[in-house]
This record gives sequence, structure tokens and C-alpha cells, in this order.
Amino acid sequence: MPELLPDQGDALTGGGREVWAALGASGALRSAYRGGDPSLGVDPVGLGRLLSEVDAQAEVGATLSSCVQLATAVPLLATGSGPAEAALADALAGTSVTALAATDTTAGSDLTALGTEVAIGDNELVLNGGKRWITNATQADRILVLARHRPGRHFTNFTWVLVPASAAGVTARPADTELFAGAGVGHLTFEDVRLPREHLVGKPGRGLAAFARQIAVERLAGALWAVALCRRVLTATKARLEDPTRSDEPLWRNESVRQRFATCVVAVRQLDALCRELGDRVATRYDTAAAALLKAGAGMTAERVLADCAQLQGADGFAAGGAQWLRAQAAVFGIGGGVTEVVLSAVADSADALLAETAR
Ligand SMILES: Cc1cc2nc3c(=O)[nH]c(=O)nc-3n(C[C@H](O)[C@H](O)[C@H](O)COP(=O)(O)OP(=O)(O)OC[C@H]3O[C@@H](n4cnc5c(N)ncnc54)[C@H](O)[C@@H]3O)c2cc1C
Repeated sequence: MPELLPDQGDALTGGGREVWAALGASGALRSAYRGGDPSLGVDPVGLGRLLSEVDAQAEVGATLSSCVQLATAVPLLATGSGPAEAALADALAGTSVTALAATDTTAGSDLTALGTEVAIGDNELVLNGGKRWITNATQADRILVLARHRPGRHFTNFTWVLVPASAAGVTARPADTELFAGAGVGHLTFEDVRLPREHLVGKPGRGLAAFARQIAVERLAGALWAVALCRRVLTATKARLEDPTRSDEPLWRNESVRQRFATCVVAVRQLDALCRELGDRVATRYDTAAAALLKAGAGMTAERVLADCAQLQGADGFAAGGAQWLRAQAAVFGIGGGVTEVVLSAVADSADALLAETAR
């Protein structure tokens, strides 16, 4: 595999901002997109390789910060004009971090209930509301906010607004968690935030449609990252199990341990196979059923593999930053971007078609 970040040494140390800046400066960000152009969609192979390299070098929080920008924020910026074009150029250069704020103060699994409002005038927008548990909230230069411009749950009532983090009326506070250091996860408040009308991204009423396309890509990205993370942790766990200095009968010789480990290998290979089969379908057609399969697979695989690896590391798993800590962070694969239950419902909705595809 060619190195995307040659001779960078410790270039991917630091938090999400530093990692994003390093990826932008090296030109690596563009490798996630077809022809290097986010408006053409992601390239699943390039995206998977980039996430794998970032996962190998950076902390989980920093990888999370990059992942949501690569899969959702940057491609959404590419659908806009005016300020969004400038934001896109800065994002690709690594000089601007963009948060994507969809989850509202209401239940995240019930997106059309969201309360954040944008009043759209002839020349001006006024934004009011709040968002919670947003990656990059406390370290963003710009925030893409999903807001409603009309009351009610109808699909066409929602619109994206590009908000400079420094705009009057914007406040960010960190989420009360020690997990995800470097991801800038936090809560946002918008109080009478006034912006020129060109800060709308896409047409009014197209917000949820654009979100549906991009969340499919985020689900693919999550699955690609989950494969990389599971591979990394399994590799480290196996090395520990084989370590001859811990015992003259290393645990790797224990058949029960080997079978438990092998079950994880099967699960990771299944998720990897799904990514390889469905990656292009999500990247080019924004196929929601395929994305739901990937997201459900990622959530369930990461949970199982990280739990088994943590158990197999014994007491050492509880060391600071150890496998138990990683396991807690990896639970985000079953929450962020849609909880496992919700994506399983989407799989059930498409069950007939998904089963039919397995016929030979
Ligand atoms: C680290 C982290 C980073 C995040 N980053 C972002 C971000 O960058 N941008 C953003 O917009 N959001 C982000 N989120 C928010 C995330 O997308 C939401 O947490 C998620 O959509 C779930 O919403 P909720 O937390 O309100 O849970 P709820 O919707 O309240 O659900 C709580 C629980 O109820 C159960 N449940 C919910 N719905 C169903 C159902 N239909 N069937 C069965 N059970 C159900 C599930 O067990 C679920 O976990 C992030 C979250 C985390 C933890």
C-alpha cells in the first residue's frame, strides 16, 4: 500500500485540528474523493486507505474529527456556492475545520422533530436553536447547521446554513466526557445569529435530502474505519497473546482463546467484504439500504471485537488508554450517525430486496 503521508514522522499527533491541517497540507484529503474532487463523491478505496492510515497514527478522537469532515461536511460544502465555495477551498487545504450539526436538542433518532429554526429573509438569515453532541463543535471554524425554515415534519421543511463559528450569537461548550479527546465534541447554541442570505447551502427545502445522501456516505466511512480499527486492535491483541515472556505456555496456544479470536476475524472479514461489495453503491448512488447494512454491521462488529479484545487483555485492558477505554469509544459506531436500532429498521424495510440479491 503506498504511503499517503510519506516522511511525516509525527505529523498526525495532536488533536483533530492538527491532524486535519496535516492532511490538508500534504494533499492527502483529496485522495478520499473521485478525481480528488469532493463534488464527484468519495472514492471508497481512497477513503478507506486514508481512514486506515489516520487510525494507525492518530488518536480516536482526531480520527473521528477527520471522518465526519471527509464523509459529510466537505461533500456538503461542495454542493454550495458563495461562502460555501470559500469554505470548501479552506477545508481541503486543511486551514478550516467544519462541524456538521444535525443532532438537535430533541431526540437525534427523530430528526424531523428538530427545533433549530432559520428565518429566511430576502437578504438575511436569522438562526435560533441548539445542537448537542456535535463532533468538532469546540474546534470548528465553520459549522454546517441543519435547521427548519417551516414548522412541521415534512421532508421539505429543512435547510442547511453555513455559520462562521465566530459569528455573534454562536456559543460552543464541550460535552461532559473524557472520551474522544481531540474530537472537539460539544454542544452549540445559536441566539439570533444573523447572516447574509448567501450562507444558505443548497436550496431551501433540500436540507434533508442532502443529509440523507451524505449520511449514507458517513455510514460507509464508519464501516471502513471500523474495519481498520478492529484490524489494528486484533493485531495488537494477538501479539500479546503470543508473547512468550508472559508465560512459557502463551495464551495463543489455548484453543478456546484461539476460537474466540477467530470469531472476531470472521466478523471483521464479513464487514470488510460488505464494504468492498457495497462501497461503490453508496458512493455513487447513495443507496440507503446498502448504507444501513454497512452501519449496522459496523456497530455490531466493533462492539463485539472490541469487547473480546479488551477481555483477552485481562487487567492490562484497564490501563489508561487501553483496550477497555478504546472499547468505550468504539461504542460510538453504534450511536453516531444513526443508532444501530434505527439502521436495523432500515435493513428490515429493504429485507426482501437485500435477500433477493443473495440468490445465485
Ligand atoms: C461521539 C459522538 C459524536 C457525534 N457527532 C455528531 C456530529 O458530528 N453531528 C451530529 O449531527 N450528531 C453527532 N452525534 C449525535 C448522534 O448522531 C446521535 O447521538 C444519534 O443520532 C442518536 O441520537 P440521541 O443521542 O438523541 O439518541 P436517541 O435518539 O434519544 O436514542 C437513544 C436510544 O434509544 C434507542 N432508540 C432510538 N430510536 C430507536 C428506534 N427507532 N428503535 C429502537 N430503539 C431506538 C437506541 O437504543 C438509542 O441509542 C454524535 C454523537 C456522539 C456520541
